[in-house]
Amino acid sequence: MQTSSSHLETRAVHGGMAGVRESGSHVPVIDFSTTNPLGSVEAGGLSYEELATGHELGEGRSAVYQRLWQPGVARFEDALAGLEGTQGAVAFASGMAALAATLIATASAGRPHVVAVRPLYGGTDHVLASGLLGTRVTWADAAGIADAIEPDTGLVIVETPANPTLELLDLCAIADAAGPVPVLVDNTFATPVLQRPVEHGATLVLHSATKYLGGHGDVMGGIVAGDQAWMERLRQVRALTGGLLHPMGAYLLHRGLRTLPLRVRAQQATAEVLARRLLEHPAVAHVHYPGLPGQDPSGLVGTQLDGPGSIIALELVGGYAAAARFTESCDLVTHAVSLGGVDSLVQHPASLTHRPVAGEAKPGAGVVRLSIGLEHVDDLTADLMTALDAAAELGALGSGRAAASAMPDTSSLDTRARNGDRTATLR
Ligand SMILES: *Cc1c(COP(=O)(O)O)cnc(C)c1O
Repeated sequence: MQTSSSHLETRAVHGGMAGVRESGSHVPVIDFSTTNPLGSVEAGGLSYEELATGHELGEGRSAVYQRLWQPGVARFEDALAGLEGTQGAVAFASGMAALAATLIATASAGRPHVVAVRPLYGGTDHVLASGLLGTRVTWADAAGIADAIEPDTGLVIVETPANPTLELLDLCAIADAAGPVPVLVDNTFATPVLQRPVEHGATLVLHSATKYLGGHGDVMGGIVAGDQAWMERLRQVRALTGGLLHPMGAYLLHRGLRTLPLRVRAQQATAEVLARRLLEHPAVAHVHYPGLPGQDPSGLVGTQLDGPGSIIALELVGGYAAAARFTESCDLVTHAVSLGGVDSLVQHPASLTHRPVAGEAKPGAGVVRLSIGLEHVDDLTADLMTALDAAAELGALGSGRAAASAMPDTSSLDTRARNGDRTATLR
């Protein structure tokens, strides 16, 4: 099947399907085997050695054991690599497992220093700040990357569009500043439909596949795409540490890729209309959305990023209290963490996804993040406007706006226990 030279939509549908037609099937068969027949003792041993050191499954070789190789996972990896335009990809149990494997590979290669640009996904920020996996982080802004690089810097980590306020970074400038140091881009928000970071100088591309790639809120996974040498190291880390994607998850994620271009573009079209409508409401102080005038000063939408996507962050006039009231007043839009699915979600980053982030880097208390799904734009508008009215009403009633906009202390995850009662009353 010729897929490498075809358009993205065609690759999304046909990628990772090698040999399926020839086997007499229309879709891949899910193989749940945890172990595989080895043939001769000699051949089994050789297969083990190849796979445990990160090589791909050789022609006629045994897959040995599911932790070393799984055919459905390999199909999903081939399909995603085809969309990102990389030599390969390695899939994991979650986005965080994918990041953890990358950090382990970086630290164990003797270059444990990481330069990272905030804002990042809260979990990424947390694992870097904690040094849990043997890395040491320097936080830099995009212009400070070159100065932050040290002799043992093994990775530069960026996210664009960034979570939750959609700041855009110029990847070509970042790759230039990083020089020989590999650049990892978290491409979860953009997906390869809107942005292919290796075309702009990135070395590695990371996805929480849990979000747009799966797209239906029913499967967790993560994946890193990049060159052959990196993929071998990541497969070795996966084989030895076991952060595996389950065959059922791999099947669902591979299937999700087939509709990815359609979903991403339809969700984006709705978000573009909504962002403009939400701007009009008096309870809204600011709409963070790269598709709005003035929010893309470097002109990256249309060059690096094919479109503004379907995540919108709202900054509410009434601070924390208004954000909480708005979030709890949404009905069609579900109050839940995660993003990128067919149904719209709303969440309050400062108290949830970005709770572990240090005070100075934490999103504002009045910021809410919306992930726009596939519902009709007018139904979403009605739901969100009703919730904004509720938030505005609170502002009009509140005697002291400053007091109402204060937020419970979330400076450390340890405060979760202390704030247990308060958090419960916010639901
Ligand atoms: C969700 C998310 C992650 C973490 O992925 P999991 O699949 O939840 O482990 C990483 N980066 C971004 C941008 C995310 O949204």
